[in-house]
Formats: sequence, structure tokens, C-alpha cells
Amino acid sequence: MPKIHELASVLADQIAAGEVVERPASVVKELVENAVDANSKQIDITVEEAGLQRISVVDDGDGIADEDTEMAFKRHATSKITDRKDLFRIKSLGFRGEALPSIASVADVTLTTSTGGVGTLIHNVGGIIKEHTAAAARKGTTVTVKDLFGNVPARLKYLKSPATELARITDIVNRLALSYPDVAFSLVHNGRELTRTAGRGDLQQVIAGIYGVQSARKMVAINGSNPDFKVTGFVSLPELTRASRQYISLLLNGRYIHNFQLSKALIAGYGSKLMVGRYPLAVLDIKMDPLLVDVNVHPTKQEVRISQEPELTQLIQETVFKRLSTENLIPDVYNEL
Ligand code: ADP
Ligand code: MG
Repeated sequence: MPKIHELASVLADQIAAGEVVERPASVVKELVENAVDANSKQIDITVEEAGLQRISVVDDGDGIADEDTEMAFKRHATSKITDRKDLFRIKSLGFRGEALPSIASVADVTLTTSTGGVGTLIHNVGGIIKEHTAAAARKGTTVTVKDLFGNVPARLKYLKSPATELARITDIVNRLALSYPDVAFSLVHNGRELTRTAGRGDLQQVIAGIYGVQSARKMVAINGSNPDFKVTGFVSLPELTRASRQYISLLLNGRYIHNFQLSKALIAGYGSKLMVGRYPLAVLDIKMDPLLVDVNVHPTKQEVRISQEPELTQLIQETVFKRLSTENLIPDVYNEL
């Protein structure tokens, strides 16, 4: 009798879910990223009890054709890449085909979707499809997640206080809103609106909505490039600082990433203008050839490997330094804010 056997797919999904779906904020991130990938212009997120009771993401994107809806819940099933060469030029936020099966394996998920005509409703509980019916739906997709981690109590115990989990949700929604100024986002928790952006494509207006008008007025546009990279965005004047680095958002080809070296380069651009222990606010949007970046390093894709990172850090530091040098510090016009 052989001792090695393949795991049942529901169990395999639950194991994989541990990497993709760590906490309620990871569910929000994955669902919103799917909405962005589907070309949505408006994405509304509703959360109850820090996501443990209910998370719902409504988008007005492309929708999923009925024949594809069950496949969307299969592991490694995706519409975003097909072959090896696609893997090296990823333009979408998703591509691993793991989010929906992972979330469904640890929750009760209802998806309603329509590509324009008659829509589809799928009810998936713990990785098993319980219902697949026609549903009246407007174009777009709604995913509602209930009873998150109800079947993995160990995961529930590991979560932090509701306030902390909610802060993480707000943080990820805000970063996505900063990444996509032309998409209108809203986040409502227990009936209270926490974030709303207009989707008019104006990054400074999004910054004002998230960090406040006073802060946005103290941020200046930056713009720098070399043959491989283009860096744009806003950085705070040295007088506007925070006690942590978390107000620095780095976006690489539309993806929010963590990268210590790039944050360090941004801070280095301030030279001696920052007090010890103080950090700027910034949104840096980096554009580069997808061939020069590997986003397939970690399941959540927030870590990436960039070839020619030293050239990029130098560009960031120089761009910020030049912009903040005294002769360039004539404030921009902020009349619209
Ligand atoms: P991935 O995003 O890596 O492809 P997911 O498990 O997140 O994997 O989603 C599986 C597939 O389901 C996607 O490739 C996409 O075709 C479809 N899908 C998921 N969410 C949406 C959505 N909000 N709108 C349109 N299609 C969606
Ligand atoms: Mg996805």
C-alpha cells in the first residue's frame, strides 16, 4: 500500500489559503484587485465587524460569463495569463488563479456576476459549490464573503483586535485608491463611510481625500526618468512628516509593493531636511518594462524583484533631491483643492 497520495482539492485549497488569505484585509485586497483587473470604474466595499461577519465587494467591471463561473473557483484557473511568456510580462494584478478558491475554502462565498445579459449566482461554502443559478444582475460582479475562517478556528485566534484588522483593511483600500485615481472607491464599515474617492484621475485629489486637504497642499509633484524607469507622483515638503514610514506608498506598474531599498532612496532624497525619526508622505508611481521585474516572488505579490534596482534607487533619490532643492521649492498651484 503506497503511503503517498495526492490531497483532495478542497484540502489542498485550504492549505494554499494560508498563504493568500491571512486576514480579512487579504480578502479585501484580492477581491478589489480582481475588480481592478476587470476594468471596473467603480468599486464599493462594505465590511461588517472588521470583515469577520461580512465583506462585500461590488464592481461594475467586465463580469464573468456563466460558463466560466465554476472554473473561477478552481485552483490555478485564471483568465489573465496563458503561457510561459505571459509570466514575464504581467500587466494584471492577479495571474496565479488562487484567490477565489483560497477564499472560498475558508468561508461562505456568494458571487453574482453578469457580462451584460442574464447573470449567474454561485454559492460556494468551504470550497464546495452549493448553488449555481441564473440571477438578475447588472453588468459587473459582486462577491460577498461571510463566516471567514469559520472552519479554521486556529486562524481566527491568530487575528488581532477588530480595530487593528479594520485598520489593515482601510490601509489596503487606501493604497489601491492611490494606485488607481481613475477608479472611484468607497469603503463602508458597519454603516460608516471610511473612504471615498471620486475616480476623476487626479492623484492629488485622491491624496487629499485620504490624508486630508491640508496635507495634500504640502505635497509637490515629482517627475523623473532614465531609459529604463519613469518615476512620477507626489512627495511631502520637508515640513510635513510622520513618525513612521507607512505613509510612503510605492507603486510599480500599478501594483502596490513593499521595498525597503526604494523607500530608503526616497528618504535619502530629503538629505538632511528631515528630523531624526520623521518620515515623509509620498506616493511614488514607478513605470518600467514588465520584463525587468519579477512579481512572482510571493503569493501576495507585494514583494517583487527588480533588475537594475541600483539605477532605480539612484533615480528616485536624485528626482526627490532636485525637486526639494531650495530653488525649486516654489509651491505648485493648489487652487483646485
Ligand atoms: P486571478 O486573479 O489570479 O486570475 P482569482 O482566483 O482571483 O485568480 O480569479 C479567478 C478568475 O475569476 C480571474 O482570472 C477572472 O477571470 C475571474 N474573476 C474574479 N473576480 C472577478 C471580477 N470581479 N470581475 C471579473 N472577473 C473576475
Ligand atoms: Mg485575483
